[in-house]
Amino acid sequence: MQNRCFSLCRLVTENNFYPDAQQPDAMCDENALEQAKKLVAAAKKISALTGAGISVDSGIPDFRSEGGIWERFDPHEYGTYDSFLNDPSKFWTMGRELAKVMLKAKPNPAHIALAELEQSGKLLGVITQNIDNLHQVAGSTNVIELHGSYLRAYCMECNKDYVGEEVHQRVADGEIPPRCEKCGGVLKSEAVLFGEPMPEDPMARAVDICKDTDLMLIIGTSLSVYPAAFLPQLAKNSGAKVILIKLEGSNRDDVADVILMGKASNVVPRLFDSSV
Ligand code: NAD
Repeated sequence: MQNRCFSLCRLVTENNFYPDAQQPDAMCDENALEQAKKLVAAAKKISALTGAGISVDSGIPDFRSEGGIWERFDPHEYGTYDSFLNDPSKFWTMGRELAKVMLKAKPNPAHIALAELEQSGKLLGVITQNIDNLHQVAGSTNVIELHGSYLRAYCMECNKDYVGEEVHQRVADGEIPPRCEKCGGVLKSEAVLFGEPMPEDPMARAVDICKDTDLMLIIGTSLSVYPAAFLPQLAKNSGAKVILIKLEGSNRDDVADVILMGKASNVVPRLFDSSV
């Protein structure tokens, strides 16, 4: 059984659960790509901060965009810690839908390129806001899960750990909310909900990486969920260069030295491909 330590920090988002419709996939600017590749070649201690966008090409839609889960499940009602404490069956009803896509997704070339970068010894670690475990499946070993994991669950009463897949199967079979076999308490996914205290250790490790890195790759995140959205500026203030890879503009673009517009699965591998 794990000892769970939570920080005083809670997961919050800017008030944009539903942003404007996404722009069509922009072409990656070749000059910007060349600039970015030079930064990669010069860097010795690279880090990555990833968000929902890196897993879109693996078949997991981000929550906010058209077709995303917030379209059918109001995040205020289904995705906050308070709503979970009030009525856990709501979260698990949404969770059943989420499990259908999340459990069958496979890593895409962007996840794989980061795993290969780690093997080359140049990557300090992947800091991820994702809960889908795809970095680990791709082969990354130093993955810092800021928002927990959908692949783990625990009992709210006695803290007993559960394997997420087993719990999701029970939920798929109609057990909503799922309950602890030992004490009957309600089970909670380890994925952190809005308003929920953040796990302490991952954020501390992420801060250490931001202070140490000389190049941060920010991939597929709108940088509108806090405290993760503060990390690029921390890396920047510590002297790192920053490359942003995504499909649309955000209000934190000014942190970037280079912006690459395009799909992560296409752009990320090209950063490390010396033949391109
Ligand atoms: P977000 O939905 O706020 O932003 C996604 C970003 O990814 C957008 O900027 C979008 O332009 C970009 N994007 C979309 N498709 C892309 C692609 N193919 N290639 C590159 N970029 C692409 O996501 P967020 O900033 O991670 O914050 C949302 C929260 O929801 C996070 O806390 C995260 O934990 C959670 N979430 C996780 C998953 C997952 O685990 N796969 C999926 C959805 C949401």
